[in-house]
Amino acid sequence: MPDTRIEELCVDKGMKMTEQRRVIARVLSTAEDHPDVEEVHRRASDLDPRISIATVYRTVRLWEEANILERHDFGDGRSRYEEVTEEHHDHLIDVKSGKVVEFQNEEIEALQEKIAARHGMKLVGHRLELYGVPLHDGVSDGEDG
Ligand SMILES: [Zn+2]
Repeated sequence: MPDTRIEELCVDKGMKMTEQRRVIARVLSTAEDHPDVEEVHRRASDLDPRISIATVYRTVRLWEEANILERHDFGDGRSRYEEVTEEHHDHLIDVKSGKVVEFQNEEIEALQEKIAARHGMKLVGHRLELYGVPLHDGVSDGEDG
């Protein structure tokens, strides 16, 4: 039995699973952020030091083409990867810290469909990235002040 969703998708798509690919799948399936190739390589190396960055590059490319991974560019020119999820979400990026917030908003989703319809189209997908800076510098999320 495959132990990650990525592995399962690979098997479904008839892709070859090597031991190293399994390690990379585990790294990406357990990631709660949006790591770039260097970061995926760093984490994979902790599990198997024989994995080269070239292998990570090749593997994420392959999985991106197979629609197993989604690639993002959050404005800093680096390609970041995350597992394709069934639940759609968009991203809000703090350009100061690089922190990425995932969100879902029904109004935005409905509005996008309306815009497409207004132009005689049925929406089949979209990408939305919002960029921001913290409203209050140095102040935490607390209610003080
Ligand atoms: Zn995400």
